[in-house]
Amino acid sequence: MTVNKLNEAFAAAGAAAWGGLPFSELAEEMTAEAIEKAEALCPGPRTVLVAAFPYYAGESGGNLSLYARGRDYHQVITRRLNTICNFLLQKYKNCRFLPGTDNSPLPERQGAWRCGIGLRGKNGLVILPPYGSYVFLGTILTDARLDLPPRIPSPGCAGCGKCQAACPGGALGAEGVDPGRCLSALTQRKGVLTEREQALIKAHPLIWGCDTCQQVCPHNAAPALSPLPEFRTELTASLTAEDLAGLTNRDFREKYGDRAFAWRGPAPLRRNLELQG
Ligand code: SF4
Ligand code: SF4
Repeated sequence: MTVNKLNEAFAAAGAAAWGGLPFSELAEEMTAEAIEKAEALCPGPRTVLVAAFPYYAGESGGNLSLYARGRDYHQVITRRLNTICNFLLQKYKNCRFLPGTDNSPLPERQGAWRCGIGLRGKNGLVILPPYGSYVFLGTILTDARLDLPPRIPSPGCAGCGKCQAACPGGALGAEGVDPGRCLSALTQRKGVLTEREQALIKAHPLIWGCDTCQQVCPHNAAPALSPLPEFRTELTASLTAEDLAGLTNRDFREKYGDRAFAWRGPAPLRRNLELQG
C-alpha cells in the first residue's frame, strides 16, 4: 500500500491530517500496563496510524463544551476509521486493524506529535492549523508493516502562556495538565466532590467540559469550520434541569445516547446544574 493510497483513504474518511509510526517507538511513551493492553488487543503490534478530525462548528452560547455539542466523537471517528481499516484489510487480509479514539491504551497526542501532526500546545493539546486545537484524534493499531510518510516531530506552539494564565483550575503547569484540577475532568467526575471542586464548578460557565485554554489560544483566533457534518449539524449547545427532569438512566440514554456528554449518565450533569443554581 503506497503512502499516496493511504493519503486518499484518510482524506476520504474526513481526516485533516494523518501520520504513522512503529509501535515500538510509541511504546516509549507508554506504561508497561498500556503496552500489555495494546498487545492483548493486537498481538505483535507493528504500526500505529494517527489521524486528526476537525470539529469546530463556530462559537455560540451554551453550557456544554464545544467538542460535546455534535454527535459523539467516539462513534463518529470509529466509524470513519473503520472505512480505512476495511480498505487496508483488502490488501492485508491476514492482519488486524483496530480503530480507537480516546478509548484505547495508545497515547494519541504523543503519537500525533511524534508523527508531526500539528503543534505541541502548552495546554497539552494538538494544534492543527487552520483548525486550531479543535480536532479529535483517532488511531489505528495494526500488526501490519506499512509504508509511512516521513516524520518530523511537531514543533511547539507560540508559547505565549495565555492558556496557563487563564486556566480556572490552575491545572496547567510545566508538567502539562493536572487532571485533578482540570474542569474538563471535574465536570465529568461522578460521586462526591470536595468543597474546592464544587466551588470551581459553581464559578464555571459549563456543566460539561471546559474550553478556556482553547478559547484564549492565539492559534485558535479564527479556526476553520469542520467539514464533517456530524459535528456541524443538529448541535446540542445547552442542557437545562428541565431537559433532564424525570429521565431514568435508560430514558437519558435513549434521548442523548449519541452525544459525548452522555457516557457518565445524567447524574454529573444534574449535580453541575444544581451547583450553578
Ligand atoms: S480544560 Fe479548562 S481547566 Fe482544563 S486545563 Fe484547559 S483551561 Fe484548565
Ligand atoms: S495559549 Fe499560548 S502557550 Fe497555550 S497552547 Fe496556545 S500558543 Fe501555546
